[in-house]
Amino acid sequence: MDLSFDQQHIWHPYTSATHPLPCYGVDSAQGVYLHMQDGKQLIDGMSSWWSTIHGYNHPVLNQAAKDQIDRVSHVMFGGLTHQPAIDLCRALIDVAPQGLERVFLADSGSVAVEVAMKMAIQYWACQGNTDKFRFVTPRNGYHGDTFSAMSVCDPINGMHSLFSKVLPQQLFAPAPQTRFDQHWNEDDFMPMQELVERHHHELAALILEPVVQGAGGMRFYHPMYLQRCRQLCDQYDLLLICDEIATGFGRTGKYFACEHADISPDILCLGKGLTGGYMTLAATLCTEDVAAGVCEGQPGVFMHGPTFMGNPLACAVANASLSLLANNDWQTQVANIETQLQQQLTPCLDLANVADVRVLGAIGVVETKQPVEMAIIQKKFVDAGVWIRPFGKLVYIMPPYIIQPEQLSKLTEAIFNALK
Ligand code: PMP
Repeated sequence: MDLSFDQQHIWHPYTSATHPLPCYGVDSAQGVYLHMQDGKQLIDGMSSWWSTIHGYNHPVLNQAAKDQIDRVSHVMFGGLTHQPAIDLCRALIDVAPQGLERVFLADSGSVAVEVAMKMAIQYWACQGNTDKFRFVTPRNGYHGDTFSAMSVCDPINGMHSLFSKVLPQQLFAPAPQTRFDQHWNEDDFMPMQELVERHHHELAALILEPVVQGAGGMRFYHPMYLQRCRQLCDQYDLLLICDEIATGFGRTGKYFACEHADISPDILCLGKGLTGGYMTLAATLCTEDVAAGVCEGQPGVFMHGPTFMGNPLACAVANASLSLLANNDWQTQVANIETQLQQQLTPCLDLANVADVRVLGAIGVVETKQPVEMAIIQKKFVDAGVWIRPFGKLVYIMPPYIIQPEQLSKLTEAIFNALK
């Protein structure tokens, strides 16, 4: 593999083109293992950024892709439709929180968020209210890298300073402080409530990641915060957008993280694990009320339509992935991962440079006191036979659900040893 060409010409996520850190070459992958071009095998702790929930090279997902590729891999979705999309949307409506009955198929998580935000703005505009176009969100959120999605990412650790002149100005409440397993403190919600009381006339929606804030800090907050958000939105006429792009499909121990709070949003964003990590596909679901609201006024249609919308190949694999979830006991797999992560990551608290350890479902996080040296720690992990990619002060894993206890132990041991 020509890694020097890669270094000289290929841009990787969040990297310098002129001073790139080394990349490791993957030749193939199987189950939880990445087979590297130099012959090494690494246990994947990242599920390729939350997505490969069933592991790599899964025979059922492979077969679904092969069957579909021989029929049709892509066809425009304007004026045409196909069975894989119909099956997928039916399955999504079946598993989604109650009331979400209209599905817009998008091409990536960020686009699903753009679509959700456009829906919310169009919903109010179509009813003659063009003042409600801003969004309120807790700090420490992450919703994607396109402009509107960026505008609701955390303003400090997001990219606001760089793009401040072009980003729409949104409203930020302090991040929820009560942890998932702590006693709920009602004061935690007051700043959000006050913000919405003051600004509701200009707010289209409240957007947040339910229960788990991912790339904006890997924080797990109390489900009561989410319940309060639902009530607040009802009280002040805001739509509630839940971004389950990272948390969806079982990762937190519930099929959707909204279920921890027993609420349904008006708009739901899904992505990542939707195709079992095989290819890019996302979905934005909304209620009948939102769909009707969007389509009642002028221009009478929802103004979005990507070229690769509803890609049949991606839909076919997504259908196979949802069937795997329905037939596998993911609840037990995730619960076992949670127990083991709790047992094996908690000892990291004894290390001098560790500030916090937290676990929820199949997500384990070790927060350090100082940011880690990415290139150094990355090499340590690779030398230990694992793939873990920390950022800032966060060393975290969210392995495929099929991981075996001894494989998971290799991940947790590697974290302990590297931080030691
Ligand atoms: N929302 C959340 C909660 C995410 O975690 C991500 C991806 N990390 C996105 C949106 C954006 O998804 P994508 O990278 O597919 O555009």
